[in-house]
Amino acid sequence: MNIQHNIALKNYNTMGLAVFAKYFYKLTDNAQLPDLLKEIKKYPQTYFLGGGSNTVFLHDFDGLVLHLATRGIEYQKTENNQVLVTAQAGENWHNFVQYTVQQGWFGLENLSLIYGTVGASPIQNIGAYGVEVKDRIRRVFATDTQTGKSLILHNHECNFAYRNSIFRQPENKHLLITAVEFQLDTAFQPQLGYGDIAATAERMANGKPITAQIVANAVIATRQAKLPNPDELGNAGSFFRNPIVSNAQALELKQQYSDMPIFAFDDKTSKLSAAKLIDLAGLKGFALGGAAVYDKQPLVLVNQNNATPQDIVDLCQYIQKVVQEKFAVSIQPEPVFVE
Ligand SMILES: Cc1cc2nc3c(=O)[nH]c(=O)nc-3n(C[C@H](O)[C@H](O)[C@H](O)COP(=O)(O)OP(=O)(O)OC[C@H]3O[C@@H](n4cnc5c(N)ncnc54)[C@H](O)[C@@H]3O)c2cc1C
Repeated sequence: MNIQHNIALKNYNTMGLAVFAKYFYKLTDNAQLPDLLKEIKKYPQTYFLGGGSNTVFLHDFDGLVLHLATRGIEYQKTENNQVLVTAQAGENWHNFVQYTVQQGWFGLENLSLIYGTVGASPIQNIGAYGVEVKDRIRRVFATDTQTGKSLILHNHECNFAYRNSIFRQPENKHLLITAVEFQLDTAFQPQLGYGDIAATAERMANGKPITAQIVANAVIATRQAKLPNPDELGNAGSFFRNPIVSNAQALELKQQYSDMPIFAFDDKTSKLSAAKLIDLAGLKGFALGGAAVYDKQPLVLVNQNNATPQDIVDLCQYIQKVVQEKFAVSIQPEPVFVE
């Protein structure tokens, strides 16, 4: 097996942290898996890496980084205007979404321009503009790297929740997702109930019917205006999850800060905007070492000036402390911190 040694990970994590992997293997074909699973047992730890867009390496990785680079998309038309599309884990998520839109397969267009791979999409149940990937996942194909067994998990077995699934739980860290099957529509139904996407799509349609490609373009344009491009400014997208608090606490905060957005979560709890909390705490643009809070979108932490992993951790903890002290709200990081 072509296991590489001491590989720089700077170009394998969108935060652009200059760390190294002691061992590194690029998986391009699932036929390599049986040999690889025997090999994995020799290493103290293994980290499955897709696009590194939700990963913060805390230091050099003293084990094997297994980089998913498998490609391939298959589909099967079904009754009821639907199509089942299976994509290999290493497919680039954004390219995959654009491909589905071009094929006339609908349902993922609101998730355009999310970074990373297809294989990572179920892990934290990626979501944007009113759509979560769980709405379209039918089955997840995985390999248990401890037993070598292949598994097929149906949607309901994945325990999908807001930025969460069984795959994020520590006891399932040995499950390698090899492919994901999506259930998409061949008749287009726009989902425009979120944010300013409807207005942008209507402007782009210019009086003509809104197509899925227009929705995708509206999402892309909106994201490009708000979020830094990791190729230009290292970042991992939203750095904090939106906190869930009791309805009573949400109401109290709303009375104190009239522009505090509050979203109903369930009967007893509400979701707050982590971005707004950070903004109201006066931390927009705040920098610590080489890391900073992005001035256009305070939910994003950026690698402004050769940030070290410690700079990112220090900034993260400082923000958590200030938000806790000011609002009595705990905000938790979204990316995976890798020891
Ligand atoms: C600019 C920007 C914008 C973003 N916007 C959004 C957004 O709107 N919504 C959203 O939800 N996320 C967003 N993200 C976060 C990120 O894009 C997603 O979490 C994405 O799914 C991560 O994919 P990845 O391949 O880069 O994962 P990685 O960072 O490589 O890995 C993330 C986690 O998944 C695990 N993993 C990866 N592949 C596999 C596999 N095949 N099998 C098992 N485990 C695996 C890793 O071990 C790790 O625990 C954004 C990120 C950036 C940089």
